[in-house]
Amino acid sequence: MKEKLYTIPLIEAFQADDECPFCYIENKLEQDALDFTLGACSSYMESDIREQTDHMGFCRHHFKKMYQYGNSLGNALILKTHIKKINQELEKQLEKYAPEKQTFLNKLKKPNNLKSNQLAEWMAQKESTCFVCDYIQNTYNRYLDTFFYLFMNQPEFIEHIKHSKGFCLHHFGEVTNLAASKLNQQQHIQYTQVVFPIMKNNMARMEQDISWLVDKYDYRNADADWKNSRDALQRGMQKLKGGYPAEKSYQGNR
Ligand SMILES: [Zn+2]
Ligand SMILES: [Zn+2]
Repeated sequence: MKEKLYTIPLIEAFQADDECPFCYIENKLEQDALDFTLGACSSYMESDIREQTDHMGFCRHHFKKMYQYGNSLGNALILKTHIKKINQELEKQLEKYAPEKQTFLNKLKKPNNLKSNQLAEWMAQKESTCFVCDYIQNTYNRYLDTFFYLFMNQPEFIEHIKHSKGFCLHHFGEVTNLAASKLNQQQHIQYTQVVFPIMKNNMARMEQDISWLVDKYDYRNADADWKNSRDALQRGMQKLKGGYPAEKSYQGNR
């Protein structure tokens, strides 16, 4: 059973006391992906991996994470052949690009002709792929499958969900969207009965934590207990959009 591989880390994520177990999983996978891309295994020295990174490139978010990771030579080697490939493609695109003669009739038509649109299409295609995103997504999808597998087959897992803090809104949306296709109607109803109250209660808790954080700035509360509000700002941001705003950049141990 493929799900077995992902069961233990998924249960750990539910027990991690995190605002969202899927943020927790995603973060771990991103660190794994950065380790794989730039870490001690030096995957960038393998020609098949380099072929992939040359072809897929990286998104802006992950270039920043790769820079912060700290392996300058590894980064430079990856970039060297990637840029070479980009330049070959760019040259072909620029050769093909031909601005259309501007006539009154053309101006009434769509703003770009077909040939100049090919350049835009090429650029959009370059923007749409990232080696690190792809690495994360492949495994992340297995965790989503495992979530529904355990939901349907292991009653103990329902207890783990009930004792968790629910999800961030981003991952709540993602999981709930999938519920319709992964679960039968009865299971889908059970999903709403288990997850919706947890979401409601934990969003209300978050509202209280943030509210008390604001109240703590009142001089009359200077000596009052922080309760759960000391880190409420980053947890509130995570609860609304996912991710860890206060987290330090992940660096390789080189
Ligand atoms: Zn999340
Ligand atoms: Zn990416």
